[in-house]
Amino acid sequence: MDRFAQNEENILSPASPSAGRKVELPTAGNLGKELPSAGANVQTCTRCCINSTVAGVKFDARGECNFCTMHDELERAYPIDEPGTGAFGAAIEKIKADGRGKKYDCVLGVSGGRDSSYTLWLLKQQGLRPLAVHFNDGFGNPVAGKNMTRAAQALKVDLRTITSDWRESKDLRIAFLRASTPDFGMPTDLGIAAALYAVATKENLHYVVIGQSFRTEGICPLEWLYFEGKYLKEVHRRFGKVPLRPWKPEDPGFNLGIPEFCYYAFIRRIKTFLPLYHLRYVRDEVDDLLIRELGWVYPGAHYYDDLYQSLMTYILRVKFGIDRRIFNYAALVRSGQMNREEAIGRVREVYVIEDPKVIQLCIKRLGLTQEEFNEIIALPPKTFHDYPTNYAWLRRFKFVVRMMANLQIVPKSTYMKYFDFC
Ligand SMILES: [Zn+2]
Repeated sequence: MDRFAQNEENILSPASPSAGRKVELPTAGNLGKELPSAGANVQTCTRCCINSTVAGVKFDARGECNFCTMHDELERAYPIDEPGTGAFGAAIEKIKADGRGKKYDCVLGVSGGRDSSYTLWLLKQQGLRPLAVHFNDGFGNPVAGKNMTRAAQALKVDLRTITSDWRESKDLRIAFLRASTPDFGMPTDLGIAAALYAVATKENLHYVVIGQSFRTEGICPLEWLYFEGKYLKEVHRRFGKVPLRPWKPEDPGFNLGIPEFCYYAFIRRIKTFLPLYHLRYVRDEVDDLLIRELGWVYPGAHYYDDLYQSLMTYILRVKFGIDRRIFNYAALVRSGQMNREEAIGRVREVYVIEDPKVIQLCIKRLGLTQEEFNEIIALPPKTFHDYPTNYAWLRRFKFVVRMMANLQIVPKSTYMKYFDFC
């Protein structure tokens, strides 16, 4: 398979091997799980909407949560600049200087969602020549796909799609579902990161740009999403059936352990830049701009550039009692973009992203029968602590990760997520 080719296939095409087989969803009722935030004894932060259902939460004497403390630390580390000034302006100039004589200045990960579409527009506004890279892991939302191609055309940016090996990707997804941990979407995140490093390596670029903002997205608790190459390998070793292809620097597949990461960070000297961390980023204003400038269409929900999110949201709610909107909404409350009462009310209702038709399509595309899916849902919930990982080792050497955050090799928020929670 040419991993650099544009993949026309998407989940809504009748390409699934089990298409036509009837698959019914277990209902929340028969699983006996109510919405996590609707319980009677839930304590809620007095400032945001984080509550006691969130892994790793602590409240101080004023009733404020540790996620709010972390947000304030990030605010101090990444003050808001005007475009062209401060740390933001300095970073743009460094990237421009590094790109001299090259076809591109940097690699930008794109999905067709709001954050990456806006970041693409922003980089062009700043006079950069980004190469937009999309990782197609088989569940792309066609609305987001059209957003990407329209934006690339309008901004005259090259768009490169890296398509995962579907046999590997499907096997990893099922392995993680059987591992029964809440971070079963992690292989795609790791595939995205590896693909961005690979393209930067191929093009001899030193900057990978990511369109995320802690002010609108928040920080995901570590136990809900633990991102690490060894963890992926161990889960695959226990539950996978298809061997993973070996790592190649320009074709890494799903390999991004500590040795591979060190290769990209220290041999290839690739850094990460998160421009939205430095800017005022208001979602409603951005939506208007994207619609006006790029003909952008809202994919229907946050994270819905990937249709697998529909299945993920459903399983997280009924099996793990997890609602990931809570840390997104909490961030919006802290940055004054959502009313606290509205946020608390919203997490008491089932998220619209849980579309039964899309969930059924996801299950069919994985080739699972209803019985197999029900078995997976019924497995006892676990976390990454139940599998061999490098976490204890990383904790011992956390000063190294702090140093890497200071050198912009990883975002400061990554250091906080891995070590400040505990
Ligand atoms: Zn809080």
